[in-house]
Amino acid sequence: MLKIKKKLAILGSTGSIGTQALTVVKNRPDIFEVFLLSANSNCELLYEQSQVFKPKHVVVNTERAYLFLKKKLGREITISMGMNQLCEVVQLPEIDLVLSAIVGSAGLRPTVSAILANKNIALANKESLVVAGELVMRLVKEKNIDFLPVDSEHSAIFQCLVGENSENISRLILTASGGPFINLPQKKFKNITVVDALNHPNWKMGNKITIDSATLMNKGFELIEAYWLFGLSEKNIDIIIHPESIIHSLVEFVDGSTKAQMGLPDMTTPILYALGFPNRIKYPFKALDLVDYSKLTFLDPDKLRFPHLRLAYECLAKGGTSTCSLNAANEISVSAFLNKEISFVNMFKLVEMSLEKSIFVNDPSLEDYLYVDSETRKITSELISKI
Ligand code: NAD
Ligand code: MG
Repeated sequence: MLKIKKKLAILGSTGSIGTQALTVVKNRPDIFEVFLLSANSNCELLYEQSQVFKPKHVVVNTERAYLFLKKKLGREITISMGMNQLCEVVQLPEIDLVLSAIVGSAGLRPTVSAILANKNIALANKESLVVAGELVMRLVKEKNIDFLPVDSEHSAIFQCLVGENSENISRLILTASGGPFINLPQKKFKNITVVDALNHPNWKMGNKITIDSATLMNKGFELIEAYWLFGLSEKNIDIIIHPESIIHSLVEFVDGSTKAQMGLPDMTTPILYALGFPNRIKYPFKALDLVDYSKLTFLDPDKLRFPHLRLAYECLAKGGTSTCSLNAANEISVSAFLNKEISFVNMFKLVEMSLEKSIFVNDPSLEDYLYVDSETRKITSELISKI
């Protein structure tokens, strides 16, 4: 019998999630094929990926990358450039599933565009939900598509909820590794370098999310992501530090039962689950041997040393465009820290100060979100220029 393969659009194919997803496709070519690859500027890697996966479309974001690929790739592959093009190509009828794995709020428009065209989504780009969760989830419901979390914590919760009635959930518990500075006293934070902050103990990820993990902004974003994905009040979503990253998250039910999903810290598992949904895909894996982890530890997060966590709860409670501003201020601060323009602790101060100055829209449209995003970026950049 002829098997129909799932046709994938991989947005952010040159990144950490994108390349791991392509490894999955490479190992299961009987199930998946690539229809669209897209990335910002890394045309050399995109060229290699195109040679291997033979997509029908490639979309890039810079002119250099566009000209490079136009010259090197054959006519069977259509190459285009820019966000408007990506938003169009992602709607092509051939695509079955879109892996949204661009980093930052740049992922919002193509994700929304794919949802509007009734595409099923595997969501790694958590910033889409941080920026515009209300809008995104409203469209997901309207279009009745599969909206599948790739983030390991949310994949864990999603897997724990299979076969459960959502009315029976009493609490979600998101686990956090705590990042490299979980035991560092606050007085030493001023000495943290970019190299220190990029040295995550358990996960190898892109630079931006690695810094977000070091400040715990990532966990704040995951709280917001869980709020929109699973529809619980923030009062019923707890965060617990679990340095071993073996339990990926937990769900507590109204009868006192708690389910957890476990595994080694490897993004292949949640990527595979989202790409394969509703099936589990047979795949080579390194087994979790609990004897190697005879002691699993848990502790409460410290919102004093990591104030971004407190801000995430506050912005979520305030609603409107608050979390959009939180994301924009954070993106600019992280980028300035990575460029060595500001210190680690300055990121905390800048995000808080930007939130105080940013505009607020209570019931925002997509245009409002994009406007607030761009205005908050200006506010944060201006604050940085004064440091
Ligand atoms: P990364 O920096 O490694 O890769 C980002 C990708 O986005 C690259 O392919 C880049 O070319 C593309 N990109 C960036 N800006 C773009 C733009 N303006 N237009 C088009 N493409 C653009 O990032 P990552 O670590 O793979 O993370 C991607 C997303 O997945 C993030 O939202 C992150 O929070 C989320 N996530 C990542 C991990 C992980 O293990 N890496 C885990 C959970 C969630
Ligand atoms: Mg995560």
